[in-house]
Amino acid sequence: MAADCIFCRIVQGESPARRVYENAHVVAFHDIAPQAPVHVLVIPRRHFASVLELGEEEVEILKGIQGAIRRVAEETGVARTGFRVVTNCGRDGHQTVFHLHYHILGGRRLGWPPG
Ligand code: ADP
Repeated sequence: MAADCIFCRIVQGESPARRVYENAHVVAFHDIAPQAPVHVLVIPRRHFASVLELGEEEVEILKGIQGAIRRVAEETGVARTGFRVVTNCGRDGHQTVFHLHYHILGGRRLGWPPG
């Protein structure tokens, strides 16, 4: 757990979140400021500042993330209609919370390319 990390506090149950799915390595919850009808964040329980910190040797965590993305997509219905998985990294990627998270966005036709 990292000091002053809002997502670590959510993992610990110390900050509220509308959880939709969890497994041994991952928690998924609704984004507090949804940018689409479905906007869920999938985060590893362990603190990694960004996608750059999650090494390929972390096989169980990577499996947990992949499994969570599929489950959330199926359970929210966007698996049928299409959706986007995004992880923002660093300044130019517009990352504002420095605990690795994957946005799952869907429920409307998304624009491309992103701004
Ligand atoms: P951006 O804010 O530009 O989307 P990130 O990719 O770092 O940057 O995304 C952080 C996401 O976390 C935002 O979508 C934000 O609404 C969400 N968020 C921040 N605090 C909370 C919280 N307490 N509960 C749920 N979602 C949160």
